[in-house]
Amino acid sequence: MSKQTRKTIIAGNWKMNKTRKAAQELAEAIVAACAKHNDLPEIVVCPPFTALPEVLAAVKGSAVSTGAQNMDYHPSGAFTGEIAPPMLTDLAVKYVIIGHSERRQFFGETNASVNLKLKAALEHKLVPIVCVGETLDERESDLTDNVICHQVAAALADVAIESVDPIVFAYEPVWAIGTGKTCEATEANRVCHLIRSTIDGYYQSSQKGAPAAEMVGNLIPVLYGGSVKASNVDEILSKEDVDGALVGGASLTVEDFLPLILSAQKRKQGSLSKGAV
Ligand code: PEP
Repeated sequence: MSKQTRKTIIAGNWKMNKTRKAAQELAEAIVAACAKHNDLPEIVVCPPFTALPEVLAAVKGSAVSTGAQNMDYHPSGAFTGEIAPPMLTDLAVKYVIIGHSERRQFFGETNASVNLKLKAALEHKLVPIVCVGETLDERESDLTDNVICHQVAAALADVAIESVDPIVFAYEPVWAIGTGKTCEATEANRVCHLIRSTIDGYYQSSQKGAPAAEMVGNLIPVLYGGSVKASNVDEILSKEDVDGALVGGASLTVEDFLPLILSAQKRKQGSLSKGAV
């Protein structure tokens, strides 16, 4: 697979929003809007757990896939309030977001638990969208690259190179999430590229003595997330290393989400003006 064939993905993270009825209506509206277009990118919607069945039914047979916003890494057991990977596969959920900064910030998610969840997702044939990103303090202390490299390598610990293929990474600077502040497109592209080189470096150094690992970083979709909206999406998605977007606020209505889908469609078709560095 070459970088030209990397998937372009637009994923909506609905966070803790929408009752079952509201989620179903939004999913149906997205499906209806997408039905008017061909050659779309991969479109993913991630409703709250409670609305997954309604959303799965609404998107069935369409271009839209469904993801969960989190999961536990145990297959079952005494973990009150948690959702296990087989429960998601049982519903036919395709994607799962892992390590979102809100999970890291408010719910004790660590690099170690992200790694366990990533391995559980792969084991259960779920496509993990692994979020990494620096806080404002870290950026201002010039620690962005250290944090990103560390989060990416920690997420991949003990993941065999043969298993990497389905993984999606998302660069989500914490200071840009839900704040209206977008990372400058050139900088988003630089960090997305850093994620790829970190993946390559990780597999080259873990295959000591073996022939250089294939450049797997170039094969993996890397998304940008953080206040993506209609007014900035084209510039961000025009960048070489940004394969799509993970979107919060602007995924909550079809009016806001459709322009992002259509921008990703243009990227997929190669018709966004090239903003490569
Ligand atoms: C997110 O929650 O992953 C996100 C990127 O949110 P927003 O688009 O609202 O910044």
